[in-house]
Amino acid sequence: MSSTDRIFNFSAGPAVLPEPVLAQAQQDLMSLPGVGMSVLEISHRSAAFDRILEHAEADLRELTGIGDDYHVLFLQGGASQQFAMVPMNLLGPGAVADYTLTGSWAKKAAAEAKKFGTVNVCASTESDSFTRVPAQDELNLTPGAAYVHLTSNNTICGTEWPALPATGDAPLVVDASSDFLSRPIDSAGAGLIYGGAQKNLGPAGVTLVIIRKDLAERGSESLPATLRYATAAKHGSRYNTPPVFAIYLVGLVMRWLKAQGGLAAIETVNRRKASLLYEAIDGSDFYRGTAEPESRSLMNVTFRLPTEELEARFVTEASAAGLSGLKGHRSVGGQRASIYNAFPEAGVAALVEFMGAFEQKNG
Ligand SMILES: *Cc1c(COP(=O)(O)O)cnc(C)c1O
Repeated sequence: MSSTDRIFNFSAGPAVLPEPVLAQAQQDLMSLPGVGMSVLEISHRSAAFDRILEHAEADLRELTGIGDDYHVLFLQGGASQQFAMVPMNLLGPGAVADYTLTGSWAKKAAAEAKKFGTVNVCASTESDSFTRVPAQDELNLTPGAAYVHLTSNNTICGTEWPALPATGDAPLVVDASSDFLSRPIDSAGAGLIYGGAQKNLGPAGVTLVIIRKDLAERGSESLPATLRYATAAKHGSRYNTPPVFAIYLVGLVMRWLKAQGGLAAIETVNRRKASLLYEAIDGSDFYRGTAEPESRSLMNVTFRLPTEELEARFVTEASAAGLSGLKGHRSVGGQRASIYNAFPEAGVAALVEFMGAFEQKNG
């Protein structure tokens, strides 16, 4: 392997980016076409950056089909900061927010919300070790809730909501950090969709927020300016200096997604990749999937081997074979193959082949 050869990167995040995006960024790094400076060196209020930001937003709107009644915001602080900003802005005095607990990120989101108001756990699958997401009829929704929060894809346990549940009049707030733009967005009941970019959208450092305009105005003026959605909306995500390079890269990823045929087309590819891997797991007695089949994630495929010793050997040998990042999250162990939008189909085929050979040798 020469120093610039790329391996297959199964990391959960920061994660693999499309190669054409990296090549474009490399080319633009010395000078943006017609600008004579890189995006790292220009003002965030320059015409050149205006174009970058406007283009990224326009492409995102085209890809998702979200209406004019939503703002697109580029924020900082990661999804973790959204865990706090959501209740700070949307959970008024005396109000209740419903939270679904489907994994450790969901629990963290609920724990932050408790600092600002009343949280009702409207469904939890913790007693099933988070191996599934709740069914619609398991949701114990609070009448008049300020919002209902859910984690659309549970990155650690490898589960994903097959479709977003109905929540009546309460707007749905979705942490989509690990499956943002992996399939068409059902924005019908959605009030706010957020995610750190570093899994499926771009590099670390920018957080994408799609928020219904009326909800953006709910936060009190007494909130810190940088933690209020209305501030970002009013200033076009430039109240203060935004992460210009990360936004530029997200813009390139949007363009790449459009070139792939959009979200329906990328979903088809994502389903094909995930099926290949789940079929390999289901067709063997050696590998065991950890998520319930109807809740399986298309993005993070989690599985176990017969012993922890074999699991450690699997990760080491896979890594030596150019398949990197297959160790499961430290809190659950096992294996996790993160196969986000940018992860190539050839890498999934290579993993399936490696799994077959490893089972032959050790099964
Ligand atoms: C990674 C992740 C987070 C945390 O994201 P940060 O940007 O690091 O704060 C939150 N929720 C989900 C579902 C994630 O996968």
